[in-house]
Amino acid sequence: MGNANGSLPERVLMDGIGEMVFVMAVGSTGAFIYEFVNRAARNILGLGEDIIGREICEVVGEERGKDLEDRYREVALSGVPAVYEDSYPGPSGQECFSEVRLTPLIGGEACTHIVATVRDVTEKVLAMRSESAMSSRLEESGSRYRALYENNSDGVLDISDEGLVLAANPAAVRLIGKREEELVGMHYSRLVAAGDEDRAREAFRRAGVESGDIRLDVRTGEGPVGCLLKFTPVMTSGRRIGCYAHLKDMRELDRLVGQFVESERRFRIIAENVRDVITLMDADWHFLYVSPSSLMMFGFSPEQLMQTKADTHIHPADFPELNHVYESAIREREAFMARVRLLHAQDGWLWSEITGSAVYESDGSFLQMVLVIRDVTRQKEEEDRLQQFAYHDALTGLPNRRLFLERLGKRLDEYRLTGSSFAVVLMDIDDFKRVNDNLGHAAGDEVIRAFGERIAVALEDGLVARLGGDEFVVLTDKCRDAEEAAAFGRTILASLADPLHVPGWEIRITTSLGIALAAPDRQTPGQLLKLADQAMYEAKKSGRNRFRIL
Ligand code: GH3
Ligand code: MG
Repeated sequence: MGNANGSLPERVLMDGIGEMVFVMAVGSTGAFIYEFVNRAARNILGLGEDIIGREICEVVGEERGKDLEDRYREVALSGVPAVYEDSYPGPSGQECFSEVRLTPLIGGEACTHIVATVRDVTEKVLAMRSESAMSSRLEESGSRYRALYENNSDGVLDISDEGLVLAANPAAVRLIGKREEELVGMHYSRLVAAGDEDRAREAFRRAGVESGDIRLDVRTGEGPVGCLLKFTPVMTSGRRIGCYAHLKDMRELDRLVGQFVESERRFRIIAENVRDVITLMDADWHFLYVSPSSLMMFGFSPEQLMQTKADTHIHPADFPELNHVYESAIREREAFMARVRLLHAQDGWLWSEITGSAVYESDGSFLQMVLVIRDVTRQKEEEDRLQQFAYHDALTGLPNRRLFLERLGKRLDEYRLTGSSFAVVLMDIDDFKRVNDNLGHAAGDEVIRAFGERIAVALEDGLVARLGGDEFVVLTDKCRDAEEAAAFGRTILASLADPLHVPGWEIRITTSLGIALAAPDRQTPGQLLKLADQAMYEAKKSGRNRFRIL
């Protein structure tokens, strides 16, 4: 491992791996010195190259350093690997949990290095902790999804359906080299290097129809960087309202190609000590090598897997697409990343992320594919819930303002094209403060929830969203003119004749409605909402429990 921080193949391989890898040299005085830290560790812990050559205590502080040194020393002296659980502070100070594996490397008589691989199990721990609290407030879980987004070692951009960046996670900020404030509002195509824009646009357009990754160069502060880009559509009620763009920096994995073969021994040290599954594969999906972690991740030992063909472990619905990228990666000499379901011996299908890089002989012929496989089942579930969270109100589960405005924008486009009319109906509970004052805030929350439900039922179809507080808004095709709008208003008022049932109470409430009809001179969502607000204000002023139409 002498020059472990140089361009050694194992460094490249380790940098392609999702878990953190540290190589610590045993110094002459018995101290442990950072010799190599992989990309995942640098990203997750926010470490720089400057820690190389320094002792543990200098980097992590005296107290924690002593603790780590004790563990390393034990492994170095006994020559026996160890596994333990640990917690550490994340980049923004939050508590993170990990599983650590220490492996001694013996050169001659003595242990020369300790390889520490650290697997982040924060999600797992947090998920276990919050399982029992699942029914409690959604906000709580919201921050969990947020954490997943924040800590993802790949770049993630939240993009509106028009292609504008709405948010960027820290990994994206680091990769692109611009602050989040600079990125927000920018069209995603401006981040793509010249010549790659068309392919990026095509992928954006087809996100969800075709789920492939594309290989392109992203503009960064350091010039163009080869990345894998994938757009995942954000869907609500079957409609696309935006995309997440996942960006994976491929620089390090690229260097792997053709290099690791020379250092088979080192390759094995790494492959056998990480928990990502590493496999070598021929062009026809025959396993050439499977790392031992397959038993833990998939319930199959390497020996069992070697007796089968890999394609029998891939979900039939995912195989054709994967096979396609696999073959084209071999042909085009490009790395790929794919999300597919892989078979677990007992648990059925696991969502997994596969990163693949082809290796060629010196004469240029294909030798084998290196695949690094990560279980992303939980991450996938969290992402699905993250989407739900970003576009829905935590208290009522109804669409939120953001989703409403996007849908209203689309409905306005349709109106311009087809002339089919509609209305925006704003409603606000009358004297709601009295409910809070008399029954308390918690009962008030229940009333807001029950009100939302009552409106959704009365509406039959159309979109109802909570704007905030006791204010709701409806987008409906049932109000094409003033007459229909009046009928609609009466229906809503009548639907509140029966009291709302909330735990421990039956509460009678009324609401005031402001209805704004679509018209050619009402061009923007903002204009329509403002008119609806004016109409509602008039309804409130002239006695409440009534509607006004503008
Ligand atoms: P008006 O008839 O003019 O609408 O009077 P109002 O008493 O309903 O007052 P208004 O609509 O202006 O304010 C709504 C109140 O709702 C203000 C705030 O105290 C309360 N509120 C806002 N958000 C929540 C919430 O999430 N839960 C509960 N329980 N109360 C909320
Ligand atoms: Mg009110």
